[in-house]
Amino acid sequence: MKKLFITRKMPEHMVQQLVPYYEIVQWNEVSTSAPAKFTEEAIKDADAVWCVGGDSFSSQVLSNAKNLKLVANFGVGYNNLDIDLMKTQNILVTNTPNVLNDATADLAFALMLSTARLIPQNMKCIEQNKWTGWSPYQGAGVDISNKKLGIIGMGKIGETVAKRSLGFDMEILYYNRNRKEELERKYNATYCDLNTLLTQSDFIIIFTPLTPETRNLITLEQLKLMKSTAILINVARGGIVNEKDLYIALKEKKIWAAGFDVFEEEPISNKHQLLQLENFVATPHIGSATIGTRDAMMQLNIDSLIALVKNEPIPNLIY
Ligand code: NAP
Repeated sequence: MKKLFITRKMPEHMVQQLVPYYEIVQWNEVSTSAPAKFTEEAIKDADAVWCVGGDSFSSQVLSNAKNLKLVANFGVGYNNLDIDLMKTQNILVTNTPNVLNDATADLAFALMLSTARLIPQNMKCIEQNKWTGWSPYQGAGVDISNKKLGIIGMGKIGETVAKRSLGFDMEILYYNRNRKEELERKYNATYCDLNTLLTQSDFIIIFTPLTPETRNLITLEQLKLMKSTAILINVARGGIVNEKDLYIALKEKKIWAAGFDVFEEEPISNKHQLLQLENFVATPHIGSATIGTRDAMMQLNIDSLIALVKNEPIPNLIY
């Protein structure tokens, strides 16, 4: 029987599907990676690994994984994995695309609405018993409807954001590695270079993967190009926006607000510099976190792991 290493405690009803196919070694914690020693031991003779976005494997660990044929990554982003090295060792990698488009685009919109309409700040006002009456600008944020939305990374989730923005009568600008003329027609979107998008957009949403090219894509230089009323949303990956520069831009009101689901180092604590600012809204990397979406993502992982054993074409290979 093939051997499978599961790096976290996954829901029992999901793991049960794999029991007929694999001898399973599972780390018994839900939200933390297995210690290096446990991983080294477990991966040594594993044929497959089921891991999550917070897990990574050193070159030493991978070079000792002589039987390893497949890593199923719970998440669409796979910047946690050393893909170049895995390719050279003929280790296949699968991820969980498409099924999370709606949930993740919804969260981007939720952050956009939260930052624009000051939802957390207004909640705090009630919690702290500071709602004392009505005044013209009490709790007043800014409009979303009829504004310009700049989407950086017009992939599957970027497109799903574009689709939602039509309901808000937004005008869409986008910047992407490749131009997508079909999407331009479908969403009346305009392709432009990054600087044009940054200078003209009222809302900027990032949905590129984190790669060497996109790391620090947004630094103080780019933040200074944005309107002083601009709102920046990042539900893609920490590291695409330079956090120290973002802090300066928010503190000096070079931009109006930012809403982030992802951070350079996760998890963050309540001491994080950005959380000390009034114009910053954060969620704890919950882009795809609906029960239905997480179930669908796990099912994609399971399908790819079972396909390996059955010698069938493996779905959702990233190469
Ligand atoms: P996708 O379909 O692969 O889209 C990524 C888009 O980014 C593609 O259109 C790609 O362009 C573009 N891109 C890549 N490198 C670029 C660069 N250097 N400059 C400009 N554009 C570039 O992926 P997706 O499914 O939409 O997911 C996007 C990312 O969102 C994931 O990689 C993941 O990190 C993140 N995510 C986060 C959460 C969360 O929980 N917060 C949930 C889901 C996803 P091409 O068309 O040229 O390939």
